[in-house]
Amino acid sequence: MTRLSGYLLPTEKQPPADAEAISHKLMVRAGLIRQMGAGMWSWLPAGWRVHQRAVQIIREEMDAIGGQEMLMPVLQPAEPWRKSGRLGIEELFKLTDRKGSELVLAMTHEEAVTFHVAQIVRSYRDLPLILYHFQVKERDEPRPRAGVLRTREFIMKDSYTFDRDQVGLEQRYELHVGAYDRIMERTGLRFYRVRSDVGMMGGLGAHEYMAPCPAGEDEIALAPGYAANAQVALRDPDVRKVGEHYMRAGDLLSIEPAIEVGNIFMLGTRYSEPLGARYLDERGDEQLVWMGSYGIGPARIVAAAVEQFSDEHGISWPRALAPFAAHLVVIGADGSPERQAADRLYHTLCAGGIELLYDDREVGPGEKFADAELLGCPLRLTVGRRALDSGEAEVQVRRGRRDAPGLPLGGEDEQLIRAVRELWQSLP
Ligand code: ATP
Ligand code: MG
Repeated sequence: MTRLSGYLLPTEKQPPADAEAISHKLMVRAGLIRQMGAGMWSWLPAGWRVHQRAVQIIREEMDAIGGQEMLMPVLQPAEPWRKSGRLGIEELFKLTDRKGSELVLAMTHEEAVTFHVAQIVRSYRDLPLILYHFQVKERDEPRPRAGVLRTREFIMKDSYTFDRDQVGLEQRYELHVGAYDRIMERTGLRFYRVRSDVGMMGGLGAHEYMAPCPAGEDEIALAPGYAANAQVALRDPDVRKVGEHYMRAGDLLSIEPAIEVGNIFMLGTRYSEPLGARYLDERGDEQLVWMGSYGIGPARIVAAAVEQFSDEHGISWPRALAPFAAHLVVIGADGSPERQAADRLYHTLCAGGIELLYDDREVGPGEKFADAELLGCPLRLTVGRRALDSGEAEVQVRRGRRDAPGLPLGGEDEQLIRAVRELWQSLP
């Protein structure tokens, strides 16, 4: 139940002066996010709704593969980071408390989770485990940019798997591949899963989930049935340079900018060794725990959706991420018959479980329509003089700005709700 007259949705006609990326411009203009400092952003109510939609999709798919949600702190002792050899990383914020103890602000949680598992897990019977949380990460990024695409503080879902051996790790990794594929499909994003460079991590295998978009800082190489990180593709023995172009198996490779929204790694014993995560096997021998690490950024999912699905009028959310299912616009002053009809429609649809944003402000139709297109809810319902005359609220689908059949204002509540539901389910 949300009336725009009392809702914090500060839309703007102009984008911030320093904004280049589409998502940066549109998310600020639509009143979803506001900046506090370099790489430091607040999510305003409508923006947070979108963020939490991404979070909920991720949570459901993590739970479906047996993930156990927990929460680990951001403020941590420096010691585990010293043990893992990562205390020196430049992106890691370090601080000292009043007693002089060295602390860090976690940029990821391998150290924390391995610290706990090292204390808790004793025997092969305690394994396998899939643990995850949604938690703030702090990173002293050299170049925060593009609104919420690269910030110094952001929420990540990071999960960690713990297995007896490499075979177990590979199973837990495959479960994550399935979960991540489903997450990405459910968000409605255009995406590719590509093998990533494991050089630096020295790991056993890794994939990135890439969303093609103009603001992306990575590049992916694409051909029919083929997608790879561009750097990986250029080392592929099947890829040849022909003049200015790259070819693979007779196909031309196109290189597209993309943003990494998720990243999964087989770590092996990289952290269990320095942090002492061991277990006793069936024979009573001590073994190292085999680990995997899996990250995904809801903020990047949201920003990538804005990048991929906007037009010159504003955002056009995939329905899985939209802040509201429909944006109800009333054209008519307080107390008018148009208002009465719109109020009735609002109450009926809300009672039917349809999430509506009701633009009941005392402003002109031009401003209302412009804000509705900017915010990008998948459906717009309009009740004005024309609707009263025809007896039907006008319906417009945001994606492609196409008109849909009107909603009878005098009809049965049940029918009205069903009509909106059915239309909703047909949307991308
Ligand atoms: P990048 O190469 O873009 O810096 P990364 O490899 O550092 O990303 P990971 O450490 O694997 O990223 O983090 C997992 C996920 O967290 C990323 O896939 C992304 O969705 C998100 N993420 C990472 N850094 C940022 C950031 N600075 N701002 C917002 N989200 C981020
Ligand atoms: Mg990074």
